[in-house]
Amino acid sequence: MIEVRELTKMYGSTRAVSGLTFDVKPGQVTGFLGHNGAGKSTTMRVILGLHAPTSGQALINGVRKHDLRDPMREVGAMLDAAEVQGGRSAFAHLEALAYAGGIGRRRVVEVLEEVGLAGAARKRIAGFSHGMRQRLGIAAALLGDPGVLILDEPANGLDPDGIRWLRTLLRSLAAEGRTVLLSSHLMTEMSLTADRLIIIGQGRLIEDASTADLLARFQSGVQVRSPHAAYLSKALRAAGATVCPAQGTSAGEEPTSGRPAGAGEELLVTGLTRAAIGDIALANGCAVHELVSRRTSLEEAFMEITQ
Ligand code: ADP
Repeated sequence: MIEVRELTKMYGSTRAVSGLTFDVKPGQVTGFLGHNGAGKSTTMRVILGLHAPTSGQALINGVRKHDLRDPMREVGAMLDAAEVQGGRSAFAHLEALAYAGGIGRRRVVEVLEEVGLAGAARKRIAGFSHGMRQRLGIAAALLGDPGVLILDEPANGLDPDGIRWLRTLLRSLAAEGRTVLLSSHLMTEMSLTADRLIIIGQGRLIEDASTADLLARFQSGVQVRSPHAAYLSKALRAAGATVCPAQGTSAGEEPTSGRPAGAGEELLVTGLTRAAIGDIALANGCAVHELVSRRTSLEEAFMEITQ
């Protein structure tokens, strides 16, 4: 469990985090989203005791990171996979970390296998790809078999197979009852991986909701393509619908001449079912070439929320 309470972090006169409060619960993957500079890394660094808060606090399992009795077995983190010393082998790097944390060599072998680096264990990290460094960073985070995991952009540099592997790994770690907090700018991936989303902007909390609830709020649209889009949109509005041009068209605007609009323009309609839209189109003599429920992507929801 991670608890962030009224957290504020100033860097000189820069307010990186401002009065932030949220919980990250066990048994779930929690996604941490925000534009660049929103304060995600700062928050993670404060949780991990790497930066001191200006005010407020961040607790792991009820205490500050520095007060954890066995930190490596309680929390594992990856903040910047590029920070690793390149001259060592993956095995030597993890072995040194394990030694410092009182963890046996057998666990090093286990985590290297878990992240798919067993075959490269004796190779120098300097020759590793970005994706391999990410895997190594995740291995280091897992060394102590911790109940809390904090990962900053863990999917960076992974190929599609690697991203799928990471999703499965994080979901299974959460299913075991662990607390998993991760940031990512890969929205589709986040919507597939995270049960819960915390969205911040300019250091402040914007959203703290389950992924399903958040997406459900943006899912009521029906996409309609019609060669009579402007005319149809007027009829739909008269029936109480909200009609917008789908991205990149101007079809939802009021017809200026009363004549039907050009071929195949798209509308995004909310407030009416697909059946009702079809009936209204028929009653008004409008051809419809497409009539589909439209699921808003997390990326679209995120852009709207953070605007
Ligand atoms: P994010 O991880 O969401 O991209 P950061 O936490 O890195 O955001 O940054 C939040 C704000 O704090 C930004 O304005 C950034 O420039 C500033 N900042 C981050 N780290 C430092 C630092 N060590 N010194 C000064 N300013 C910083």
